[in-house]
Amino acid sequence: MHRTSVQGFVAMIQPNSITGTRSWSSVARWTLFGTLACALASITFTRLILGEVDPDTWTRVLISATALPIVIGGPLFFLFSVRLRKLKIANARLGRVARTDSLTACLNRGAFTDKVDEWLRDGGTAKAGALLMIDADNFKAINDLYGHDVGDVALTIIVRAIRSVLRNGDIVGRMGGEEFGVFLPHLDQAGAERAAERIRLAVNTATFTPDGQQRPLSVSIGGAVFAGETSFSELFRIADQRLYGAKNAGRNMSRVEQIEDNPVILLKRTA
Ligand code: GH3
Ligand code: MG
Ligand code: MG
Repeated sequence: MHRTSVQGFVAMIQPNSITGTRSWSSVARWTLFGTLACALASITFTRLILGEVDPDTWTRVLISATALPIVIGGPLFFLFSVRLRKLKIANARLGRVARTDSLTACLNRGAFTDKVDEWLRDGGTAKAGALLMIDADNFKAINDLYGHDVGDVALTIIVRAIRSVLRNGDIVGRMGGEEFGVFLPHLDQAGAERAAERIRLAVNTATFTPDGQQRPLSVSIGGAVFAGETSFSELFRIADQRLYGAKNAGRNMSRVEQIEDNPVILLKRTA
């Protein structure tokens, strides 16, 4: 079999394969290969039972041994594979819902943690990057002033602003309430500082007009930068400490710390 056909067949029979089981071409493949397999089994079985027969009889036997699997097996395999395709699509949807925060459409805490953990385990030898913890400032006041629904809108605006300055491959998750996590692979200290400031500024300048007037939103950001082996819990612990440092120092600022020597390398605040 050609290499790509082999890969296609492997994809088709793997239970976790999305591409192999969700596409219509996989339905066609299941139907074709399933029916052919049944016909082949039927011919082999008939041949074993009958032994040597003359060519005329063999042709008739061949036709009858092939016809039944095709007439019955074909539609059955088709129905089976259509059903399997539907189940796979439903399963993929459920998986997505279970990993996604319904309000902001970013990863929920569990999915974010898993994804960052996975990156830290499998990210190759030159592991470096940063974890940022981002907490909306005085968010309770927004709810109290404008209502919970407007608070929800503010959260979606914050996430949109965060996303607007990230690169492909950066990971965003909602850690709970008005707190978000951003994982920035392959960034060094200076890159993490710039990213944190870009996020802070993007949120601070995002349009939010709950009463017809622009009401600036703001976030405080704590970050942990690493180069080498580390764990999510270690990064989280340090980023969280820095976040609360930024809160205590007045909010609307970012503080990022390099994990190895632990110096605080950035402390900024808008006027
Ligand atoms: P700080 O600057 O210290 O972080 O102050 P804060 O008011 O943001 O923090 P606090 O923990 O006192 O309040 C967080 C608020 O966020 C309270 C909670 O009602 C609100 N909140 C959490 N999740 C949601 C949500 O999904 N929607 C809305 N509208 N509000 C939320
Ligand atoms: Mg807050
Ligand atoms: Mg909070």
